[in-house]
Formats: sequence, structure tokens, C-alpha cells
Amino acid sequence: MTETKENIGVIGAGICGLCTALALSSKGYQVTVYERDVAPPQGDADQAFFEWQRRGAAQFRHPHAFLAVMCNLMQQNYPELVENFWEAGARKVTFAEMLPDEMKESYVPEPGDDEMWLLMCRRATMETVLRRYVENRPNVTINNRSNIVGMEASVEEGQITVSGIKLQIERGDTETVLHDVIVDASGRNSKFPGWLTDLGATIDVEDDDAEIVYYTRHFKIKPGEKEPPRSGKDRSAGDLGYIKFGVFPGDNGHFAVILCLPNHETELREAVKDPERFNQICCAIPGLYPWVNEDKAIPTTSSFGFGNIHAVWKHFVKEGKPVAQNYFAVGDAAVRTNPLYGRGCSTGIIHAHLLADLLTEKSDPLERALEFDRRTEDRLRPVFEMSLREDKQGINRAKEIFEGRTFNDNKGFKRWLRAAFGDAIAGASREKIHVLRGAMRSFNLMERPGDFLKDPQIRWTILRYMFRGRERNNRARFQRGPKRHEMLEVISKAPAPVEDQAA
Ligand SMILES: Cc1cc2nc3c(=O)[nH]c(=O)nc-3n(C[C@H](O)[C@H](O)[C@H](O)COP(=O)(O)OP(=O)(O)OC[C@H]3O[C@@H](n4cnc5c(N)ncnc54)[C@H](O)[C@@H]3O)c2cc1C
Repeated sequence: MTETKENIGVIGAGICGLCTALALSSKGYQVTVYERDVAPPQGDADQAFFEWQRRGAAQFRHPHAFLAVMCNLMQQNYPELVENFWEAGARKVTFAEMLPDEMKESYVPEPGDDEMWLLMCRRATMETVLRRYVENRPNVTINNRSNIVGMEASVEEGQITVSGIKLQIERGDTETVLHDVIVDASGRNSKFPGWLTDLGATIDVEDDDAEIVYYTRHFKIKPGEKEPPRSGKDRSAGDLGYIKFGVFPGDNGHFAVILCLPNHETELREAVKDPERFNQICCAIPGLYPWVNEDKAIPTTSSFGFGNIHAVWKHFVKEGKPVAQNYFAVGDAAVRTNPLYGRGCSTGIIHAHLLADLLTEKSDPLERALEFDRRTEDRLRPVFEMSLREDKQGINRAKEIFEGRTFNDNKGFKRWLRAAFGDAIAGASREKIHVLRGAMRSFNLMERPGDFLKDPQIRWTILRYMFRGRERNNRARFQRGPKRHEMLEVISKAPAPVEDQAA
């Protein structure tokens, strides 16, 4: 154990920055968080959602799901924080509630099932509750409107050592603030790699485009109405091949719908930008209609998008040498995955805790940098690689459908086999609870990705599903809904957006 009184600067009060401050403060560190945005408004979840100027996190108003791994980490370490979420209107969705009707009747709980739960609320609610909790820690200070515009560092024999930051408050003068350790939680557009590169560092970056756009619209259940049941044959989240969709139940009667489209679906991409057409598309999808129809809910926002979705991994150790000492990038500043899988905040909180543990265990800056890299690789790399594989498969499937090819046209036996295996998992998860349970553990990052496939009973079941033929299994991937040409027909009948009518 080392002396735990170092003074740590955390850049960014997004979800990962806040979780880092929380984890470090629990270990006794003095933590100062610098956030360039303003603080959340006083008041409830609606005020945070509708009024908070949150320019620094472009994804702030997109819906977020918080996976079991994150929920359990919070429950085990900060149970009062979890209570605060319930008070703010967040909800718990348990494994039993996620089961399809066919499985519900015969469901017998097993050890571990109670750990498989999701926390559902708007991201604004998550951030505000988390931030208020962190603000109340005696050894954490959060500075708002504090833009970090540079870094204080020395270079000796090619080794960069970071010792502080250059801080600018509300576009005023810049001052240098020194810290023993700097944690970069400034998200996807972190400026630190650029500053480090200016000092001679080389940061290798893996960057893969998921080739999708992601559109959101928020709704509120009408007074006197109840949320539609989540059971039934038409699920509220799924894939039609050319479009993915999902309902994110939120807090206090709010929910959001996402529509996710491959980049090449130009007509549909244009259509979802218009809120009327967005709704028209939703109403044509059987799993979404019960949520978004006019009798059930009212929209509370327009439809808005998020493009440029990439999986990114930044390497902070090159050829066995750290890019910098006393500098640690966490969350999106280091690793990013496709938001469709809802993993970013979970990998962020894992990363934050991993760093806090490491800093208490080791004091040598070089050892810390190398070990942080090793533990990040060990814990997060498998998640990143799984996400990347899923992105590639998603791109291929979307292309197959767009080009009118069938799944049997896959080139090469290996690729066909991999896809057939994936289809068999999808088919078996629909009908066999032990397979679904395993897949859900993996999805919720409760185990290393794919570990459930080591279970002989699960392997045997999947093998049997492979034998029943690919066509049936492949169907299990998709929900009932209009075919692509039918959807194009739907949008062609929709009223033109206001600008087009004017033109
Ligand atoms: C459309 C979309 C949907 C998503 N859905 C989910 C989901 O369902 N579940 C999930 O777990 N994840 C989801 N994610 C991913 C998740 O949003 C991110 O992984 C997560 O927010 C990363 O947290 P972070 O703290 O690293 O970065 P951010 O949340 O981006 O926070 C970075 C913070 O740093 C601040 N900052 C930046 N630069 C500076 C500077 N120079 N000085 C001071 N402050 C600075 C910013 O203002 C911001 O507050 C989604 C992402 C997107 C794009």
C-alpha cells in the first residue's frame, strides 16, 4: 500500500469522470474535477433533461441503458447512491421482467439472476443524481465552467511526465494548476492526445466506423395511460434487417425511441430527421406502435441524430514504453464502442475502479502506467473486440439485405460457419432460458464476453439449433415488421417535412 494522499485532477465531469472521482475519493485521494460545462440546474429530473446546457456531451439527450455490471458495482460500493436513483424516479428492470412470455411461466430463479438488472432513467437523471452524490464527498471538488486548454509536462530522455493542466475559467486568463496525477475523462474529443503528440509522443489509434446513424425521439406516457406490457410477440426492441429499433423506458413516465440505420439507407436516413416521419416509421413497426401511437404518448422532443459512430481504442503504451507518466485516460477518452450495445458507461465505471485500485497498490509512475495499460487490455479489450466483431457482422448483414443477397450467399466456409453459429445462438436464446441467461450475462458484461459458450449444456443446445437449419435460426434475429420496400412506401406517403412543403 502506498500513501493515499496524492492530489488528483480529473478532467471532465461526465459519467466516467464522476465515477473516477467517486472511486478515488473512496480510497482517500483528494480529487479536483474540472468541467467546462455549467452545473446542472437545481430541481428535478425534468429540469435537468429540458434545461441543462450540456454542450460538452453531445450524447447527453440520447437514451442510455445502464448494464448490470455497472448497477452491481454501484450497489456494492455506493448503496445510498442507488437509493438516490430510485428517489429521482429511476427504475430497476430485473432478469425475470426481461423474459419473453413463453419463458416467464416456467421460470425458476437461479443463483446470480438477481444480479442481472438494468437501471433505466434518462441520462440527465443519471448524471444529476451521480453528480450531487459526488459533490457531497468531503474530498471532492467540482469546478464548473473550467475549460482545460493545455497540459503542464516535462520531457526527459524522451519520457513525458505530466504534472498539471492549464485551466481557463469562462474564457478568462489561463492559469497552471499542478496535480500529482491527471486523469483524462474528457470524452471522445479529448485534446490530450494532441498535446502529448506535440511533445513527441506517438499514440496509436485503432478506429473503425460502425457505418450507422442513430436517431432518437423522446415521449411521455399520457396522463391516465400505462406503459404497454413488455411481453407479447412483438418486442419493443429489435431488428428488421434494414433498421434497428428500441424503446428505452426512462424515469417519471418518460421514454425514448431509437431508430438506427446503416449509412447506405439514404432515404430512410433523410426521413427520420423529420419528427412526423420518425413517428410514421415507428407506428409501422408492430413492436413500437403500442408505445408511440397518439392515444398512448406525446412526443416531448423533436427527432435528433448522432452519426460518426466509431469503435476507437487508443494505445498509451508503445513498444513497452508509456506515452506519458502521471497521465491516465479513462472512459471514452481511451476506449469507445458502438452505443447500440449500451456498454460505454459500464466500461467507463470499470475503468475508473481499475485505476483507483491500481493507484493505491503502486506508487512508481512507470510501473503505474504499464500496469494500467495491462489491466485495461485484460479487462476491456475483450469487450472492445466483441463490439468490433458485432459491428462488422452488422455491416455485412445490412449490406446483404440492401443488395438483396441471402445469408446463404456468404463467401467462404469459415464466414458462413461463424454466421450460422451466431444465428443458432440467436435462435436458442429465444427459446431456451439457459442460453438466454448465458447470453444476458455476457451482454451485461457480468463475465468475459462469450464465456457462457464454455458451458457444455449451452454448447450442446446451440449445436442442436445449428442442425435444425440456418433459415429458422436466422429468422429469430429479426422482428415482425414491414419489409424495406413497404417502409419506403410508408415514408413516401408521409407529409413532406415543413421545409420541403415551403420549397
Ligand atoms: C448516441 C449514444 C448513445 C449511448 N448510449 C449508451 C447507453 O445506452 N449505455 C451506455 O453505457 N453508454 C452509452 N453511450 C456511451 C456513453 O455515452 C459514453 O461511453 C460515456 O458517456 C463516456 O463517459 P465519459 O465520461 O468518458 O465521457 P463524456 O460523458 O463524453 O464526458 C466528457 C466530459 O468532459 C468534459 N470536457 C471535455 N473536454 C473538456 C475540457 N477540455 N475541459 C473540461 N472539461 C472537458 C465534457 O464537457 C464532458 O462533460 C452512448 C453514446 C452515444 C453517442
